Parts: sequence; structure tokens; C-alpha cells
Amino acid sequence: MSAVNSPKLGDMPGDDFRRVGHELIDWIADYFEHIEERPVLAAIEPGDLKTQLASVPPAHGEPMEAIIADLDRLIAPALTHWSHPSFFAYFATSTSAPGIFGELLSAAFDNKAMLWRTSPASTELEEVVLDWLRQMMGLDPGMHGIIYDTASVSSLHAIAAAREGVEKRIREEGMSGRPDLPLLRVYVSEQAHSSIEKAVITLGLGQRGMRKIPTDSAFRMDVRALAEAINEDKRNGYLPFCIVATVGTTSTSSIDPVREIVPIGEEHAMWLHVDAAYAGSAAIVPEFRDILTGCERADSVVTNPHKWLFTPFDLSVLYCRHMDLLKRAFSLVPEYLRTPEQEKVRSGSDYGIQLGRRFRALKLWMVMRYFGHEGLAARIREHCRLARLFASWVDESPDWEVMAPVPLGLVCFRARAEGARDLDALNEAIMHRANASGRALLSHTRLNDKLTLRLSIGNIRTTERHVRQVWELLNEELRSLEKENT
Ligand code: PLP
Repeated sequence: MSAVNSPKLGDMPGDDFRRVGHELIDWIADYFEHIEERPVLAAIEPGDLKTQLASVPPAHGEPMEAIIADLDRLIAPALTHWSHPSFFAYFATSTSAPGIFGELLSAAFDNKAMLWRTSPASTELEEVVLDWLRQMMGLDPGMHGIIYDTASVSSLHAIAAAREGVEKRIREEGMSGRPDLPLLRVYVSEQAHSSIEKAVITLGLGQRGMRKIPTDSAFRMDVRALAEAINEDKRNGYLPFCIVATVGTTSTSSIDPVREIVPIGEEHAMWLHVDAAYAGSAAIVPEFRDILTGCERADSVVTNPHKWLFTPFDLSVLYCRHMDLLKRAFSLVPEYLRTPEQEKVRSGSDYGIQLGRRFRALKLWMVMRYFGHEGLAARIREHCRLARLFASWVDESPDWEVMAPVPLGLVCFRARAEGARDLDALNEAIMHRANASGRALLSHTRLNDKLTLRLSIGNIRTTERHVRQVWELLNEELRSLEKENT
């Protein structure tokens, strides 16, 4: 077969594209088939890849064969394999075949969906697909969705809309040098994701514009403390304007009592944003739907199909009850973007920082159609069963303990081996050794000042066999560390 060289002008010829395309699909199919032979965590040291890559750009086009050979030789070994069924770190997430096809097609179409006319398909499919997801999650029809890249960006937009809603002409006059503007404050629990604090910083509210509320013994926002904090801040002349509750916190997947937070927000006319980046997907499972109880009165909710809906990164959805405020915060239409139909249609760029937007709805549409609501729910339900199963082994073992409730697919636990002097060091060593083995990947957090291991199950390929294997691996590491220390 002749080499696929780059032509003097124009794109790759159609026949070459077809051939390489088929080969690359085969490559991906082999990758998935043999993924368990690879170490989950990239077995390389920092800088290893950089030193093997050319330091100057290629002056002339290279054959695709040479590029793919380097993909095998250099890039693949430097990957941490999120699609590996024994990836249990952070929030384990994975792509899926229909999602990959969606990405492939989206790259082919290369639409920049800034205006309805620059991509009617992207604009209208996004509205329809997000309404499907809204129905699946049991959110009410007053919520309208918009796609961003990540939850960090979705939450930033929600807080920007909330800020627009305080009616202090911040869009026009800004916040600096204004003695008439009180300190605006956002309230989150101590367990909230750092993205909220970053959003607060980015929006110019400053870190003192955010107040962290303590949590209860199950890591949920303490509602009484929230009410007291808001009242105290008001007495001190601050302007509390936004509460961010979390459904599925990052450390433990705890669920803030949204239903009880709602009346506090309403009493003070504050915006309630719910960060359900991780757990929102679980609400499509009928028996978990109540995790979103209270959201029918929230102002906005973020959920990430790229976390637990088998949609390739990136795709985050912001559901918002006040699209008018979001638009007021962000819409700015210069002459060169004016179109005759603009009053009749929705254009994505009116609702965010970005002008051009990727055609992300396509992959979600393909994932939802291929698996269906039932198929997606069945997979999430199975992940939660596996998490409960793992937690039951931990509970039954005298050597381990569960550190937080397990409402969904995440287990927080740690070794409590008798006689061990420093349990933090022991648990850290267990985790590092298990990760270094390449057989599984876990991550950690700190709960009540104790180093805690996290096992997150959310990968489409993870089965009971993988969960048993990681349990055996952790016990092996614990035994060998105990042996070394005696
Ligand atoms: N919110 C929660 C609760 C999360 O767990 C995460 C990430 O794990 C985020 C927000 C940020 O997600 P993203 O990477 O999409 O910005």
C-alpha cells in the first residue's frame, strides 16, 4: 500500500482519507479491546514525552504512517487511560462509541455555532437534546439548557447571571471604584468545588465575596448556619445575592439539602445555583430522581454529561430559569454579526463569553439515541450497585472503614490497620503503590482531617470483576506494607 503523503495544496485526497480513517477506527477498536493490558496511570516521568518530541516544527508534510507510528510509540504510552475499566480516580468518566462518532462528525462539520445561521443544526439540536435531558432528569419545563465546555464555565455563567439580577448596573459600570456598591456575597458549603471560588475570583467579586458554610456530619451544607451567615452579612451591610448548593460534592458525593435551602434563598431574593456536575446524571434513574428535590425552585442547575453520561469530554449543561438575565449579562452583537432573523432565533453567543461554539449537542444526541433513557439509567444504576458492593466489603473488613455515606457511585474509605502509627501515611502509601502498579487508579481527599481514599465508579467498561480486582489489590498492598513495617 502506498504511503499517505501530504499533497502540495489542498486537503488529504478522499481515497487516502478513507483508508487512514478506516485504519484509525481499527486503531481505536484495538485500543478498547486491549486497554486492560496498559497501565491505567501513564508510566512516565515528567518531561519524558517532551524530550522525545521534535523541538522544531516539521518543515514539510510527513506521511500519515509516520505520524500514526509516533502515536503508538510516543503518545499512547504517555496517556493516563480514563477509558480503562480500572480507572477509579476523581470522578471516573468515560467516552462511548456513539459519543466518539459524534465528535468525529462534529470535527468534520467544523461548525462555529455562534449564530443560528452559522449552524442551525447545532443551535436547534442543542435545544431539543437539552430538553430531552431535562425531561429525563425530571427538571421542570421552566428550565432551559445551554451547553458550555465544563461545569466551571457553566457555574461562572450562572453566577454572572445572578449578578446581573441584582440590578446594580454592573454590566455598564463595573464594580471597581464604586462606593455605592456593597460587598456582593456568594454562599457555598465547605465541600463545594473549587470552580465556584474561581468563578467568584474571575467575576471580580474577590475571595471575600464568597462565604463558606460549615457542613454536617454527612458533609452536607448546614442550613441553619447558612441562614445565620446571610443574616449576619446583611446586618453588616453586605449584599448576599447567590447561594450555590451542591448535589454530589467532589470529595464525598454528599447532597446538600436543596429543598431546605430554597426558602432561605427566596426569603432574601437570592439566586440559587445547584452544582450537580457529577450527580445530575444519576437523576435520570427513576429511583435516584429525588436527589434533585428542590431544584424545581432553583434558578440554575449545572450537570455534566461528560462526567457520567458516557459523552466524551467536553460537554457541560447549564439549566437556567432566567435566560433573559444570562443574555443581558453576555449579549453584545456588533454590526458584522447582525442577521435578519436574529429576533426570531436563539444564538448561542448571546449567552456566554465565547463567540464560536463547538457542535457538542451532536455527540450527546447520538449517545442518547443509541443507549436510550433506559440504557443510560441501567448503566448508572449498575455503577451505584458496584459502589454499594465495594462499600459492603469495606464495612465487613476489620482492616478498613467507610468514611462517608455512599449515595451514588463513590466510596470514601481508608485502612485502619491495627498498630499502624500513622494512618494517613499508610493510606497514602497504599494508594501510591496501587496506582504505581498500573492495575488501577484511585485518588484521595481529606475528610475530618483524615487522608481518605476515593473509589469512583462511572466508567462504561467497569464491571464487578474490576471492582473485585481493585479490592484485592488494595488488600495486597496493605498486607505487604504491614509486613514491611513489622
Ligand atoms: N463541580 C463538581 C461537583 C465537580 O466534582 C467538578 C469536577 O469534578 C466540577 C464542578 C468541575 O467540573 P469541570 O471539570 O467540568 O469544570
